[in-house]
Amino acid sequence: MLRITPIAILQDNYVWLLEHNQQTLIVDPGEAQPVLDYLEQHNLKLDYIFVTHKHWDHVTGIEAIKAAFPDSILYGTGHFDIPCRDIALLGGESLELMGLNWKVWHTPGHTLDHIVFHTQTQEDNGVVQDYVFSGDNIFACGCGRMFEGTAQQFHHSLQSLMALPLHTKLYCTHEYTLANINFALHIEPNNTYTLHRQDVSQSLRNNAQPTLPTTVADELKSNPFVRCDQPDVIRAAEHFSGKVMGKPEEVFAVIRQMKDQF
Ligand SMILES: [Zn+2]
Repeated sequence: MLRITPIAILQDNYVWLLEHNQQTLIVDPGEAQPVLDYLEQHNLKLDYIFVTHKHWDHVTGIEAIKAAFPDSILYGTGHFDIPCRDIALLGGESLELMGLNWKVWHTPGHTLDHIVFHTQTQEDNGVVQDYVFSGDNIFACGCGRMFEGTAQQFHHSLQSLMALPLHTKLYCTHEYTLANINFALHIEPNNTYTLHRQDVSQSLRNNAQPTLPTTVADELKSNPFVRCDQPDVIRAAEHFSGKVMGKPEEVFAVIRQMKDQF
């Protein structure tokens, strides 16, 4: 069974810890000590590190963690010079790690070097479950800032994730859900699913629980950045920009700009 645990780091990041086949993997160690403490408390050694992109809050813990676990192997984006990287990935690769088959996707938009990691397990009842470790690409009810790349690239990256099965679990890095929901309701005030999601997420946070992972289904129902073909989202973009919207990526560009100023 694949066990996935969030380790809270920094202000509002999670390092996802995966255990499968008696092996251990972490994703995006932006800080070392909470990860090292967790591994020690649970008597775990570390086998693998995944890194989605270059930002400091995803890579700062690497050197100390590698020093503590020198045999661990780091698979990271190959579009940028990540510290201590053993295997550079550009997207399109297939990996076999921890008894799981992984696919690496290049998902530019937040940054140009961004990659995500996709795997599947077969549950006891035979159902296939998909998992994506998505860094700062998609967030629950939001997406990363567009630091590099174009709206067209970012929109395309998000759409490729949304083409996965509806029950796919998306493990993003930041606990931004409640703030993202406030913005989503600004764009689509009548979206009853988003209102429901606000209640659920608020009660999770009141109990100091993560609101993550999210799912493709949840995002398709409530995330304005993947709903750029919906009338209320188009209307909000047209109102803000004063222009008639054409393609969904134009809507995406305006909604992203609105979120930056929200
Ligand atoms: Zn980032």
